[in-house]
Amino acid sequence: MHIPAKKSLGQNFLKDEQILQKIASIISVKPSDLILEIGPGKGALTKYLIEKNCYYKAYEIDERMKPILTTYSNHIIYKDFLKSNLKEDFKDISFDCFYVIANIPYYITTPIIEHVINADVPLAKMVLLVQKEVAERFAAFPGTKEYGYFTVFLNYYFNVRKVMDVPRTAFIPVPNVDSAVVLFTSKERTFLNQKKYFQFLKECFANKRKTLRNNLKNYQWDAILKILKENQLSDQVRAEEIPSYVFEKIFLSLN
Ligand code: SAM
Repeated sequence: MHIPAKKSLGQNFLKDEQILQKIASIISVKPSDLILEIGPGKGALTKYLIEKNCYYKAYEIDERMKPILTTYSNHIIYKDFLKSNLKEDFKDISFDCFYVIANIPYYITTPIIEHVINADVPLAKMVLLVQKEVAERFAAFPGTKEYGYFTVFLNYYFNVRKVMDVPRTAFIPVPNVDSAVVLFTSKERTFLNQKKYFQFLKECFANKRKTLRNNLKNYQWDAILKILKENQLSDQVRAEEIPSYVFEKIFLSLN
């Protein structure tokens, strides 16, 4: 069945079977685990995910895909993932570990990640195909130009690793950008007021060219300096040189 791709829904379908197999194999599951796929499209990845023989759920916004997707699974919810209530939709499944695997529409990468985080479902790992430059920002190390607010935000929740690059030619239609697969592994979170912490991080990164000290004029510099020194960082350091665990220590020392 020919279904023309809708650009407005970020529809670039993966056609490279080797890459699809590799993506599906990144996560090992038990029959009692649950995989959530966001945007299964024409089922290119779905067919490998259902072979994993655990619980499977998906959200697809485009109902035109229904005749194709029903041949793979009856567990596809045809609605906007960003409007979903995961707790409600999964309440009848008693699963062990929860995994997200998806080739997502790139223009909603950040909202999708935030929606997964805010869903308050105990996520073990998430495998996302995203734009290559975005993947590099997500998995960046301190001191590189890719490292920024969102890297540190993600590092609060996950260990983030770029697993592999995917060339634009692996998709149909061919997009204007290259892609990469990113693995997010949930980690134990430091107990802190998240809303205030992320606001504080925004202030730390407010002006990239300024030192941390200049961005944090309204804070007790002595307390911050103590943590910087304990972590072998200079008083002239900029936010993009500071590892995420040091930001957490600084924030806790101020509260
Ligand atoms: N997974 C398929 C593949 O790899 O070939 C399709 C990937 S395509 C990049 C993104 C898919 O997400 C499309 O099928 C699109 O219809 C769907 N989609 C877009 N926005 C969505 C949303 N808000 N909620 C659920 N699905 C969405």
